[in-house]
Amino acid sequence: MEKGSIYVEKQTDIPPGLIHFGMLDQVLNLARANSLWPMTFGLACCAIEMMATGASRFDMARFGCEVFRPSPRQSDLMIVSGTVTRKMSSAVVTLYDQMPEPKWVLAMGNCAISGGPFVFPGQYSVVEGVDKLIPVDVYVPGCPPRPEALLEGILKLEEKLTQRRRWPTVEPK
Ligand code: SF4
Repeated sequence: MEKGSIYVEKQTDIPPGLIHFGMLDQVLNLARANSLWPMTFGLACCAIEMMATGASRFDMARFGCEVFRPSPRQSDLMIVSGTVTRKMSSAVVTLYDQMPEPKWVLAMGNCAISGGPFVFPGQYSVVEGVDKLIPVDVYVPGCPPRPEALLEGILKLEEKLTQRRRWPTVEPK
């Protein structure tokens, strides 16, 4: 992964149906991309940035993803924001399993990606990357990533679903 960049996993497999209608699948994926419902779920300090992203200054509603749901059964996006401890790992997997298909996972912050600053020889309490427990679609690095970075991660996920970029990419000068 290029330093500081957002990494997107390969195309998520939408569960196959018996019959596929190309145009219908495109419309469904467009609808899914524009109405991602994240789970109300945070693990550590990165969750504070996720909450800030949901507040008025950053306005996630522009992208249709502001409807944080209080139940995994109503959510299709899990934002893993924070340190995943071994003690918490079974709860994370249970919540993921309770989400209906199709569902997506965004690993927010260095802890969720690789264990972050809690990785050192002999440590035993932290899972070194949530992708060791559940499949991850988008990785947003940072400690913590700013709200703009989380929004960019959500745009990347939308792009993965629709194969189109909603917003022009801004290149650093
Ligand atoms: S990546 Fe940094 S800010 Fe995020 S949970 Fe870990 S220590 Fe906290």
